[in-house]
Amino acid sequence: MVTFATSESVEADAHTTMSNDTIMAAWPFRETPLRRVVVKVGSNVLALDQGGLNSARITSLCDSLVALQKQGIEVILVSSGAVAAGRGILKLNKRPANIPDLQAVAAVGQGALMEEYSHQFRRHGVVPAQLLLTRDDLADRRRYINVRLAMLSLLKRGVIPIVNENDSVTIEELKFGDNDMLSAMVAAKMEADLLVIMSNVPGLMTGHPKYKPDATLIPLVKKIDASVESLVHAEGSEFGVGGMQTKLQAAKHATNVGVFTLLLNGNEDGILRGLMNGTVAGTLFTAQRRKRSRQRHIHWIGAARPRGTVVVDDGAGKALLGHKSLLPVGVKLVRGEFAKGDVVAIVSEQDRTLAQGISNYDAATLARISGKKREQIVELLGAEDYAEAVHCDNLVLLPGNDG
Ligand code: GLU
Repeated sequence: MVTFATSESVEADAHTTMSNDTIMAAWPFRETPLRRVVVKVGSNVLALDQGGLNSARITSLCDSLVALQKQGIEVILVSSGAVAAGRGILKLNKRPANIPDLQAVAAVGQGALMEEYSHQFRRHGVVPAQLLLTRDDLADRRRYINVRLAMLSLLKRGVIPIVNENDSVTIEELKFGDNDMLSAMVAAKMEADLLVIMSNVPGLMTGHPKYKPDATLIPLVKKIDASVESLVHAEGSEFGVGGMQTKLQAAKHATNVGVFTLLLNGNEDGILRGLMNGTVAGTLFTAQRRKRSRQRHIHWIGAARPRGTVVVDDGAGKALLGHKSLLPVGVKLVRGEFAKGDVVAIVSEQDRTLAQGISNYDAATLARISGKKREQIVELLGAEDYAEAVHCDNLVLLPGNDG
């Protein structure tokens, strides 16, 4: 068994068992356990050749995801398969060639896809949720903050969020990607530790097996540089539209913000079983730095010029210092004009600036509900849109307060 290096950045080998060993040796989740994982499954794993969904595959996938969740790992699933499911329902032998037809087929299939997931997860008593997103949703700060809070709320409840591209309003992943890039953006924004991209190939190969039959699997990529990029062949499959190129782009995006990325063959039953200790066959892409998304988010909030000031009582001040959210009941006074989503300064009654954070309410509404408990807020506003005035995830203690 020979291990050889195709370049500085990759370690290649010819045997799957070797791949296991190489990944295991480099596995980053021993001392720092795997806490949150985004699993992306492509159409070529979920679809049947003639169109329609591969129920057996979905069953086994859901079993594996629930097993991960039982080990205390938060799981976010990014799943394609709407077009494939729609093709099955509409009895289309071929993938439609034009975009509006693809969008229509995806619209038909998305419901069926979720029905299948709901059925499978419910067998385990696990609830799934559907989030249809676009890359723009994740690039726009205000929108991504909303998505993030919703997703955190789902994870807190043990729900498995299932993300797909909102194919009827955007066509990026329909055209190229099959959710590869979307999954990398979700992993980055949700500060996942690991992105797993499941496809119908064993991982990154030293060449395209169609043109290079002796191509071997590369178990570890330390850096995606030009030599690695030159290995891939821009070709999608009949079902998906990703191909290896978009997977590499996704891996690059994720690893650049500190998310390890694992490429593996989703058609192998139980392939996710070894995720806890790294006994997996595939290609592991090393994160290029410590996770940056949270730091960037925090940095941005801390550096922003506050649009207004929220004065809080001592109890709320103490809670903040303990990294808790700011609730309306702890707000004494609101100064300045700010909109929902703006950064505000949070100060104590003694006028000491404690923190900065993103307000869930505009200034006038927050002033109305300040000092009020939930029932009073519901009475005043008709509903309590957010339990928190500032969610702890969107809050930065200012120097001197972060003890
Ligand atoms: N979002 C699409 C789906 O779920 C992308 C896959 C494709 O274009 O086939 O089906």
